[in-house]
Amino acid sequence: MKVEKQIKTEEEWKKELTAEEYTVMRDKGTERPFAGKYYKNEAKGTYKCAACGHPVFSSETKYDSGTGWPSFYDQLKDDSVKKEIDTTHGMTRTEVNCSNCGSHLGHLFDDGPSPTEKRYCINSIALKFKEK
Ligand code: FE
Repeated sequence: MKVEKQIKTEEEWKKELTAEEYTVMRDKGTERPFAGKYYKNEAKGTYKCAACGHPVFSSETKYDSGTGWPSFYDQLKDDSVKKEIDTTHGMTRTEVNCSNCGSHLGHLFDDGPSPTEKRYCINSIALKFKEK
C-alpha cells in the first residue's frame, strides 16, 4: 500500500492557496493554454512547486511544445515528482505530482524531444519560478 506523505489538510490548503491554485493543485484541474505566466518564460532558473516550494523542474530542460503550457523533457531530479495513473475525462494519462506535498502539477506524455522523448506538460499556476 502506498502511503502519501500528507503535510497539510485540505482545509489548510484551501486557506493557503488561491482559488485558482487550489483548483489545479488539489482538485487536479488544468489551466487554460497560452494563459499561464510561464509558458513563454525563457529565463534561467528553477521551477518550484507553488504549494510547498519543493524544486521540481529546471529551465535547462524546458522547451516550447506548442501546447501553451510550460513543457519540460525531464524533471529536476529522479525523485522530484511522483507519477500516478489518471483515468479521468475518458483518458488514461500519467499524472505528475509534487513528490513532497503530493499536489497536482500536470501530466506526462511520451511525445517529447530527445534525449528522453518525454513531455512533462505542467500548469504555470502550479509552479513558482526562481531565477538563477
Ligand atoms: Fe509540493
